Amino acid sequence: MAAVAFDRVRKVFGDGTVALRELTLEVRDGELLVLLGPSGCGKSTALRVVAGLDEPTGGTVSIGGRRVNDVPAAERDVAMVFQNYALYPHLTVRQNLSFALEAAKVDRAEVRRRVDLAALLLGLGAELDRKPDALSGGQRQRVAMGRALVREPSVLLMDEPLLNLDAGQRVEMRTTITLLQQRLATTTIYVTHDQVEAMSLGDRVAVLHRGVLQQVAEPAVLYDRPANLFVASFLGSPGMNLVAATLERTADGRVLARIDRHAVTLDAACLAGHPLAAGYLGRRVVIGFRPEDLTLASAAAPDDRCLEVAVEGVESLGSETHVHVDVDVPPVWVDGAPRAPADEPATFAGTRLTARLPGRVRVRLAETIRLTVRTEHAHLFDPDDGTPLR
Ligand code: ATP
Repeated sequence: MAAVAFDRVRKVFGDGTVALRELTLEVRDGELLVLLGPSGCGKSTALRVVAGLDEPTGGTVSIGGRRVNDVPAAERDVAMVFQNYALYPHLTVRQNLSFALEAAKVDRAEVRRRVDLAALLLGLGAELDRKPDALSGGQRQRVAMGRALVREPSVLLMDEPLLNLDAGQRVEMRTTITLLQQRLATTTIYVTHDQVEAMSLGDRVAVLHRGVLQQVAEPAVLYDRPANLFVASFLGSPGMNLVAATLERTADGRVLARIDRHAVTLDAACLAGHPLAAGYLGRRVVIGFRPEDLTLASAAAPDDRCLEVAVEGVESLGSETHVHVDVDVPPVWVDGAPRAPADEPATFAGTRLTARLPGRVRVRLAETIRLTVRTEHAHLFDPDDGTPLR
């Protein structure tokens, strides 16, 4: 096992595309670190640089404290699992698992021990004599993973390994990977653009955007303390509500977020977590709150914690109901584009909010409802540079 370190790693391709910009990141010995970000943000390039498949243009990559920039891929002791399984179709599962070890002249008894262990851990015991075309997609992905594991690498690299699986198989494989990681503690870098996968698998998650590291932290920290508007908007499903607001202080000392005709008193916990907010009184900010922090208001709920709004959409998901409402303020811009509902990307001029309500709640389209904004976990950002007011 070994830690992996990126120190100011830069990758510029021949056509001038900058895939990684001064990436500095340490993957700790034995941890599973997820690289998360939208398509094209540089995740795969970061993996390929560790594997030795791409050479960095600048900076240093080290494995176990040793600089590996000039070490050939085959000598780095890393194994990689891709989204396409690339199994040998004419070989059985056992032969697929043994192939690289036999080629490396590993002792036969040792090959058997490692293959049997991998088959046991991956639940492939009954498939060892079958060929890949007789396996399900999930089983094939297990074989691909087994092939990497039997090498007992110092570092395991996984590039969207669950991309081609159906939803049920993904959930199953996530559990398997978590158990494997707990048992083997192999330093693992796992690439995905799926934030649910990232949150459920990662000891820590590194969010990349346009080749720049945005934040690296444990999943709960990313969710509760996003380092900027991009991270706030990228994590969570449905995503965080982000609204343009003006901060005002009332005569009795409260701080309000004025959102169109609504005024919401900010909780003391929110203000304590955003000490820079005092400098923004009278100015525009972005206030962010999770869909679970918008709840149906009770009759006794004070008006200064509520929004009174018409229901624009209702999605009943069984265990929960997502209710969409609009407020009449211009949309927040994230990454150079206004946030808008997926069904009206060009024409929508307001801000859509989503409340995550209980499953059996009765809310009808076009009805006016009162929603309480729980602001104790709300986030305040500078609208210009997207940084939190803390
Ligand atoms: P995806 O999730 O779509 O695989 P990614 O986050 O893994 O994306 P990379 O594959 O690392 O992104 O690509 C980062 C950027 O580098 C992208 O703009 C991509 O088009 C570009 N890129 C990748 N490989 C090359 C190459 N060989 N030549 C030129 N540009 C490349």
